[in-house]
Amino acid sequence: MARKPCDYLLCGIGELYTMDSGSPGFVAAPDLESLPVLANGAVAVLNGKVAFVGSETELKEQYEPAEVVNLKGALLVPGLVDAHTHPAFAEGRAEEFDWRARGLSYLEIAKRGGGILSSVRAVREASEEELTAQVVAHFQRMQAHGTVACEAKSGYGLTLEDEVKSLRAIKAGAEATGMEVLPTFLGAHMVPQEFKEKPDRYVEILCEEVLPAIFEQGLARAADVFIEDHAFTLERAERYLSRASDLGFALRVHSDQFANVGGTELAVSLGAESVDHLEVLSDAGLDALVTSGTTCAGLLPTVPHFLRQDADAPAHKLLKAGVPWFVATDFNPGSCYTASLPEAAHFARIRLNLTALEALAGMTLHAATSLGAGDRLGRIAPGYEARFTILDLPDLFHFGYGLGENPARIWSP
Ligand SMILES: [Zn+2]
Repeated sequence: MARKPCDYLLCGIGELYTMDSGSPGFVAAPDLESLPVLANGAVAVLNGKVAFVGSETELKEQYEPAEVVNLKGALLVPGLVDAHTHPAFAEGRAEEFDWRARGLSYLEIAKRGGGILSSVRAVREASEEELTAQVVAHFQRMQAHGTVACEAKSGYGLTLEDEVKSLRAIKAGAEATGMEVLPTFLGAHMVPQEFKEKPDRYVEILCEEVLPAIFEQGLARAADVFIEDHAFTLERAERYLSRASDLGFALRVHSDQFANVGGTELAVSLGAESVDHLEVLSDAGLDALVTSGTTCAGLLPTVPHFLRQDADAPAHKLLKAGVPWFVATDFNPGSCYTASLPEAAHFARIRLNLTALEALAGMTLHAATSLGAGDRLGRIAPGYEARFTILDLPDLFHFGYGLGENPARIWSP
């Protein structure tokens, strides 16, 4: 029988984690162990898509590749997906590390005019070209750590013009680097300085002018809000999220990071894709997530480390209760300056007590599914995009084991 042509044949794979359950949707923690792991696996790639996954012997019998790629014993996993990042910033905020070292809290830094509002000043001053150059650099750092796709939020502009500039910079950054980007509008990141005394007016502008304009221009697939005492109250968040949902945005939410004001319950009631942070999640919030079954718990385990915060999201409780989860970096200039998912895996394993496989599922299968991209990213399966992450590790137990090491590199045609 004539062999079928393919563009690439990936072989010599130490262990091949397909993360493919064979059916759509999330996989509960106890079932992860049953996902296929191939010891002598190989992948055939044709026209940028996975054509076949199976044993190396079987594939070599069936396919005539134009090129053979030998991984020399490395692990192959689906291309890593970072489901929570803030790459549209113009300047870092490294000096705040010193302020924290002198005892200032995140909230005190915000009150001083530092924090998110100082990033807002820098983004407003930057031209679109300058901001794009920064986004390109941020995407390249993510790619250098094995990330092939990411959710990317605006949110440091906080005017229509500056949010459009941010989302356009994200789009241009994606085109320049080949990063697959799922953009999110985060106009409700913080109430900008000029609306400090009239936050309701800012929410009104977001609902009546900004959200419709962003949607019309097709610049974002989701809308996000930071629900906290010092950011957006529950009532204001509800107004904003309801409007976004009516327009057709998917919803993602920052909540339960410092204070519990019921943000998780609100997000679930509105059918949000994810609620992220959850360091101070209440039992009522946990119950809401369990009942939902589709709203993902966005775990950002590196953030409490950066903020010197003791509390961690109750990951074990969430996983045990059957709540779907993802693990992301929350890459941003203030509360988590790392673009590395392998580093997030380290913190997920140390601080959240996840297994290596639970961490990996949280940055492949589950991250892609939570972003509505579970039919093309997050698995190695026929028809899926041929974007993979190679891990130069002896086995998956080593994923997130070494702190400060980067075992990941990406492969795509
Ligand atoms: Zn965030």
